[in-house]
Amino acid sequence: MFHSQMDAALSEASAAAARGEVPVGAVLTDAAGRVVARAGNRTRELSDPTAHAEILAIRAACAAAGSERLPGYRLWVTLEPCPMCAAAISAARIAVLYYGAPDPRMGGVAHGARVFDHPQCHHRPEVYEGIRAEDSAALLRSFFGARREGGR
Ligand SMILES: [Zn+2]
Repeated sequence: MFHSQMDAALSEASAAAARGEVPVGAVLTDAAGRVVARAGNRTRELSDPTAHAEILAIRAACAAAGSERLPGYRLWVTLEPCPMCAAAISAARIAVLYYGAPDPRMGGVAHGARVFDHPQCHHRPEVYEGIRAEDSAALLRSFFGARREGGR
């Protein structure tokens, strides 16, 4: 019954990189384990600083469910969610969060704001980190490395 969706999240991250977006991907499964949404970052394409992979996946899943809450859903993300996404994950009542690489600079789960550990956080998902972390980190390194070499 349990089936990792990190492969699919990593392929969304690769697709984001190919579009010139920071390579982060996300997949949401419902309580029955079905994939209901998958997305990669689209902040540049949409000129929208909130268009992170997690937000896009949550929006799509909520629209499909006709609900602002996703109880029993599981979210797979290639990188530690930022504080904005962590707050959205909590608001959506997502049951389980699996993420890949840690993000000491922008992360908001194990770093920085530690949104789920805050007393104001009313719903804390189960959190599993470090899943395919090296693959996720390699995608980010090659993306930012290539951009540096491009003289941006
Ligand atoms: Zn985010």
